[in-house]
Amino acid sequence: MQIYKTVAEIREALAAEALHKKIGFVPTMGALHKGHLSLVEKCHLESDLTVVSIYINPAQFRPQEDLNRYPRNFEKDIDLLRNYHADLVFTPDNAQMYPEGYCTWVTVEGLSDILCGASRPGHFRGVSTIVLKLIHIVQPKLMFMGMKDYQQIIVLEKMIEDLNLDTKIVRCPIVREPDGLAMSSRNLYLSSEERQRATCLIKALKKAQMMVNEGCLSSSILISEAENIIKQADGKIDYIKIVDGSTLQELAEVHSGARMMLAVYIGNTRLIDNLELLP
Ligand code: AMP
Repeated sequence: MQIYKTVAEIREALAAEALHKKIGFVPTMGALHKGHLSLVEKCHLESDLTVVSIYINPAQFRPQEDLNRYPRNFEKDIDLLRNYHADLVFTPDNAQMYPEGYCTWVTVEGLSDILCGASRPGHFRGVSTIVLKLIHIVQPKLMFMGMKDYQQIIVLEKMIEDLNLDTKIVRCPIVREPDGLAMSSRNLYLSSEERQRATCLIKALKKAQMMVNEGCLSSSILISEAENIIKQADGKIDYIKIVDGSTLQELAEVHSGARMMLAVYIGNTRLIDNLELLP
């Protein structure tokens, strides 16, 4: 496994190695857990060359957010990636990705302003820009992404379509702790008491799914039940919405492909999760 810190170096390595090879790519911000590693594993199975990036992208954090305390665990990440058969690891610094005078940004309009985009203005502009840059550098056929960040996948699929990129996103299932909490680097922020309360997200989602199975299709009823579960656990709701799984538009009634999406603060930690309510 080779590690590259500059755009020029990884370009050169890929140019030499990648001829006629199907490149698979897993972009991450590091502090790797089993969720990330499931993507690397799938990438290794489905591609000829597994490229992983570790880069904490400042452009997707707002000034008051957790950029400075975002978990960093470089040495351990590298060991894990070696065990999971990554071939090339790209770990650029900010000067590589946003050199002095940098001024080009990509925005997927509409989809970037709702749900997490409404609470975190500019977040998806930062995500779209860095992922477009990484796609240009790595030129993957397949890019493996987790459905935990469901809106991110929808935004990036639209960017790929609109800009005619030759990369396909492989949607990967959410990896969860035994009690159902979606794995996330931000779970490290939770105290043990908060960690227990954090299971309210999956409980709310599962309850909604169960009610749909029993015939309740009204979004307002499903959302109010989910709100109760979150409030009982003393969670602060950022949003709970039921949306169409392709367009992310809000639904008054659940139909096939509908998803419940939520963002909840447990203490100061903002957690997100989502679940398809009806296949
Ligand atoms: P991040 O490092 O948080 O930017 O995440 C990098 C990639 O890992 C994204 O595609 C995430 O959706 C994915 N990911 C994060 N957590 C999980 C999880 N629990 N299960 C599956 N994929 C995940």
